[in-house]
Amino acid sequence: MNSPSSNPPLEPSVQTYFDQLSLGHFLIQHCTSCKTHLFYPRRFCIHCSEDSLEWVQPKGTGFVYSTTTVRRKPDAGGDYDVSIVELDEGVRLMSTVQGISPEEVKIGMRVRAHIVSAQSEQNKVVFRPEDSSAQGEQHA
Ligand SMILES: [Zn+2]
Repeated sequence: MNSPSSNPPLEPSVQTYFDQLSLGHFLIQHCTSCKTHLFYPRRFCIHCSEDSLEWVQPKGTGFVYSTTTVRRKPDAGGDYDVSIVELDEGVRLMSTVQGISPEEVKIGMRVRAHIVSAQSEQNKVVFRPEDSSAQGEQHA
């Protein structure tokens, strides 16, 4: 009787971020007050504390800031990459680089964002090597 009926509501800016992501839009915030970009979504600018944040579409390109290979048994899906990517807008996000083996992911490598949808999972932003994007369409 006492169990919660649902998850606690997300902070509104985080909710907006995931709503847009589920529509296939990867958006970050831009502060119109101090002209910097922000990620992860929040209500107030971390730089100037103003709430003058607008949603903008990043170029989607950036570079691998740090990378780790997470070991996993082959029958569990095999090793995978966890990287922190710095977008050209200057914000960093934790994601994964796909399309190459985890060992091939190198710090400084140019990457491009793609939105992937997984069954029964929230859409998410992953990255692929930038020069491989010329040959493929975006899978959203
Ligand atoms: Zn600001």
